Amino acid sequence: MRRSFLPLLLVLALLFFACAAANLLVAIPATNQHGKRTTPVANLFGAEAAAKGWPAATPMPWPIVTQWSADRGFAYRLSVAWSGPTPDATTHQMVFEEFGWPLPVLDSVRLSWPWDDPKWTTAVPPDSGIRVRWFGLTLSSGAMAVAIWLVLFGPFHLWTAARRWRRRSMGACVQCAYPLRGAPRCPECGWAASNQPS
Ligand SMILES: [Zn+2]
Repeated sequence: MRRSFLPLLLVLALLFFACAAANLLVAIPATNQHGKRTTPVANLFGAEAAAKGWPAATPMPWPIVTQWSADRGFAYRLSVAWSGPTPDATTHQMVFEEFGWPLPVLDSVRLSWPWDDPKWTTAVPPDSGIRVRWFGLTLSSGAMAVAIWLVLFGPFHLWTAARRWRRRSMGACVQCAYPLRGAPRCPECGWAASNQPS
């Protein structure tokens, strides 16, 4: 087929940017979680918490996680991990929030540690602020764009491909279905078989 892929690429690019915008429009309100409904899904201690580990990168190797909890809401995931000798005496804490649906496209990390102890001194800020997750945003928008394209245009392309195949197998013009009877060019619409390497 000698059709240009430019229109297809343009449509996919438009869909991609529309989906990226939609992803951000869903994620941004989720960053304001105050007073919203979230459901606790896990609260682990000891070995189970240690196995989960810190939900995001720590500025330096931090002590082992002693408590780990997770909450979920629409377009929202909260993971909190603590470390300390007892649950009442935590020395390190990480609050990791992820925003977006179906994949997180924004996140933020808030850390607290014994900042006045030289052992834990770091230049990493305690609050990352809201960050864009480019990988999640690209993947989410790309998958949505392809899915929407398939729903909108997939049946049409399948149908035209099937019709093209049926006409060619019948020896008819692919363009207008006029019987070619071996003619190299369609006498009805001018379509040329040589245009169509198959
Ligand atoms: Zn024709």
